[in-house]
Amino acid sequence: MELLLDLHPDAYPLEGFRRRQLLDWVYGQGVGTFDAMTNLPTELRAELAATYHLSPYREIETVRSADGSVKYLFTLHDGRQMEAVYMPYLDRKTICVSTMVGCPAKCAFCATGAMGFGRNLTPGEIVGQILAVAGGEGLEPRELRNLVFMGMGEPLLNYTNTMTAARILLHPLALGMSKRRVTLSTVGLPKGIRQLAAEDDLGIKLAISLHAPDDVTRNTIIPTGHRNSVAEIMDAAREYQAATGRRVTFEYAMLRGVNDHPWQAEELAGLLRGLVSHVNLIPMNPWEGSGFESSSEEQIQTFYDALEARGIDVSVRRSRGKDAGAACGQLALKRPGAVAGSA
Ligand code: SAH
Repeated sequence: MELLLDLHPDAYPLEGFRRRQLLDWVYGQGVGTFDAMTNLPTELRAELAATYHLSPYREIETVRSADGSVKYLFTLHDGRQMEAVYMPYLDRKTICVSTMVGCPAKCAFCATGAMGFGRNLTPGEIVGQILAVAGGEGLEPRELRNLVFMGMGEPLLNYTNTMTAARILLHPLALGMSKRRVTLSTVGLPKGIRQLAAEDDLGIKLAISLHAPDDVTRNTIIPTGHRNSVAEIMDAAREYQAATGRRVTFEYAMLRGVNDHPWQAEELAGLLRGLVSHVNLIPMNPWEGSGFESSSEEQIQTFYDALEARGIDVSVRRSRGKDAGAACGQLALKRPGAVAGSA
């Protein structure tokens, strides 16, 4: 059986208005069975049901946080698990999706990295997270307007599947999201960033997890940083901006005593000169055994002030879902076999 959600809308079975009806049931109404597609002939529904799965998941569990964020834990058909986070705050309903089970990047302060790599998610397993969250929250899928590829995994290392998923998100007959409201976050892989810049039909927002302005510090916290210098990453970021005209966001997890020194703020400001950028300071979300602590509020404020004084556009990310283990870098499964799978 194939997963229907793995298909780009142009590759859907059926033609013309039947295809549009099918796409509307899947992405507009978010129905869970072919039987619910009442304007399709009964035989056609049976035929589709014999060929395609509609749900990529065997089981879905939720953990609700006091601040309103909801963690969705998915068990895939092969028994492996991964998570998405729904953040319904302000006027924006945002979903944070995973692109992998686990992650090979192994950033030292990230709980997902500590799990190791399981496997890539398929396009349908990625976009299915939106349909499942919409269903769980009593929304129509298209009411989820903002999406960040910031869950488990490194999207640029699952490039093809992530690109197909992004095209399904933006397709007017599928989820119809605005490219302005879709952000891909990467550990900073210059080759992948250039490849993304060349996808001219996409133009989604790019966020780079820089976390340090200098190679010595960055290499101690991001193993893949050994192969990509900060200078190479910044070159790729400039090319992304030149190609897409988009402001580039730099994520910076504040790690006490590691990357929060005043000279690092100064160096970071220097790196960003000439680039239309935004710096997002993320207080480190603690997890047991990480060996890292968040910088204090005062240290974060000092770092913020130093950047602002140098004309850098900067904000501090308010942490969501900490009590549900759903904050940035806390997505990690506590069950044996969740990365390896059981089937
Ligand atoms: N692999 C991608 C996307 C996933 S992580 C990337 O590296 O960008 C999303 C963001 O959360 C990244 O900036 C990541 O570095 C950050 N992060 C990871 N662990 C964290 C933690 N414990 N506290 C705060 N931010 C964390």
